Amino acid sequence: RYPALLTPLDLGFTQLRNRVLMGSMHTGLEEEKGGFDKLAAFYAERARGGVALIVTGGIAPNLRGRLVPHGSQLSFPWQVAKHRKVTEAVHAEGGKIALQILHAGRYAYHPFSLAPSAIKAPISPFKPRAMSERQILATIRDFARTSELARRAGYDGVEVMGSEGYLINQFICERTNHRTDRWGGSLENRLRFPVEIVRAIRERVGKDFIIIFRLSMLDLVEQGSFLEEVIALGKGLEEVGVTLINTGIGWHEARIPTIATSVPRGAFTWVTAELKKHLKVPLITTNRINTPEVAEQILAAGEADMVSMARPLLADPEFVLKASEARGDEINTCIACNQACLDHVFKQKRASCLVNPRACFETELNFGRTPQPKKLAVVGAGPAGLAFACYAAERGHRVSLFDQAGEIGGQFNFAKQIPGKEEFHETLRYFAKRLERCGVELYLGQRQSAESLLGGGFDEIILATGIRPRTPAIPGIEHPKVLSYLEVLRDHKPVGQKVAVIGAGGIGFDVAEYLVESHGERSKAQWLKEWGIDTRFEQRGGLMQPVVVAPERQVWLLQRKESKVGDGLGKTTGWIHRAVLKSRRVEMLSGVQYRRIDDEGLHIEVGGVAQCLPVDHVIVCAGQEPLRELEADLRAAGKPVHIIGGADVAAELDAKRAIRQGAELAAII
Ligand code: SF4
Repeated sequence: RYPALLTPLDLGFTQLRNRVLMGSMHTGLEEEKGGFDKLAAFYAERARGGVALIVTGGIAPNLRGRLVPHGSQLSFPWQVAKHRKVTEAVHAEGGKIALQILHAGRYAYHPFSLAPSAIKAPISPFKPRAMSERQILATIRDFARTSELARRAGYDGVEVMGSEGYLINQFICERTNHRTDRWGGSLENRLRFPVEIVRAIRERVGKDFIIIFRLSMLDLVEQGSFLEEVIALGKGLEEVGVTLINTGIGWHEARIPTIATSVPRGAFTWVTAELKKHLKVPLITTNRINTPEVAEQILAAGEADMVSMARPLLADPEFVLKASEARGDEINTCIACNQACLDHVFKQKRASCLVNPRACFETELNFGRTPQPKKLAVVGAGPAGLAFACYAAERGHRVSLFDQAGEIGGQFNFAKQIPGKEEFHETLRYFAKRLERCGVELYLGQRQSAESLLGGGFDEIILATGIRPRTPAIPGIEHPKVLSYLEVLRDHKPVGQKVAVIGAGGIGFDVAEYLVESHGERSKAQWLKEWGIDTRFEQRGGLMQPVVVAPERQVWLLQRKESKVGDGLGKTTGWIHRAVLKSRRVEMLSGVQYRRIDDEGLHIEVGGVAQCLPVDHVIVCAGQEPLRELEADLRAAGKPVHIIGGADVAAELDAKRAIRQGAELAAII
């Protein structure tokens, strides 16, 4: 079904079984005690699922290159053995694996950082020291030594991390390279460092070893590279024997989203396609490729020779296998939320996946057949109920799943309507298919009572009944202009031109975006323009002035807390939501006291100053309470009851927690 995706790629000295590369992603297991055994199981599962070539998370070539003080490094022969566990596990499954070598440069989060010039990065508190000639030459040797050790550890190759604003990228761009010696100034000088690294690696490892270079094709920062400079680097790398060139988009300090769910699928493949006109080595494209259809389209159009996917393979290790067996509709699609993967990594926590809580827990969270099948009732087909029902049925329990709504999904059905969150449709499609396959008996549009459940002969009952929105005690809260977020997102009640949103948590932001963003399909070109990305590449770094059409609706987003609005949102995505609302002229106010709601509008006080927001509607997103009406009667009748998801903890609507809790209960019930 996917001929371009499933065609092998001949690299001369070796063959890749298809066109899927699992992109580098730090999991946190690299630094955990005993983490390499878990890492081996994690990668082996992906290799078994058919991916052609895996790239590990970034490993430093020396101490100063570590991202964090305790970050992983491969520099000494005694470090080889633990890596061998990973390579042997991957090879046993017919896969190939390359080690990514990453020198953080000025992005390092410690005081020993080095960079081409002593210029502090906006995303690190530490100012780097400028590298001496000796340190530059030693670093080149360190890259080569790590590559040799990688070869000894059984890796099929290495990926040199030259993008995303890390050390090598810092040498390439004038933004961070102010040197006046042979490593700075002219283009030739700025490209010397990456080219010499690849040359040194090739000399050290010989001809039959994969060297991938991750090249920043679009920096998305001021004083980034011009297209001609990117092409020149590509050609320079070809000359010194690079095997594959991977695409990097955007420095970490760039203020343009590149992988968030609001980024259209395949939004940046045009960059790789542009480079492909000039280079001979196979090129890998990346960013927001999460279905076999999108991947196939890109490859069939000749925009790249391979696609790189990291998060989609966290979400579903069998992505390639399912695609090759025409089971694409069974793929658990990555929704690009970052909540359990990148947000965890940034908090120094082990990565996992919101839609697949087994990711990175392959040795710990398993779902073997139960020796004691039970008859189970699950009330509520939201994220927690769905996850529990599927895993429990797959273990051999007889599961009945009830929901009073006419469709599965619970709160996912509201999330999927938010512009930029359409990927939730995929999760619902996935669960619908999985329910069918694992034989869960589904009863929709039926409200359950304690009596009906008690009369059903169930051994145990799982309450995943979710939440009800909280109504804050504000005078006038009964006014007809007050709506709950459910009335807006679920019941689609009409909303006026001037709106105040009370509560600036995740739902408040969602509702504000729902009110000011255009609905319906937004073209890739339109999205690129709105974020100021120059597809003609006439400016350095591919930047231009953003073109945003202001919405007709005026929205205020309010919170009681004094902290910055949106502070509690995800580390990797919160800034995007804030930027979107700012560009849509949404007024975000914190430290708000709500006085009353009347015909005039919403009366508030901020910093001791009273004012009236003359709004047509006030939408309440002020948290929620657990819905557990059935619990007392069921327990009184002596029935074993489990409470999961929002019905357990309603503080924030947290699908990540809900799915994991459902899965963990299913594993032991
Ligand atoms: Fe994708 Fe979200 Fe899972 Fe990360 S947590 S892999 S972004 S679905």
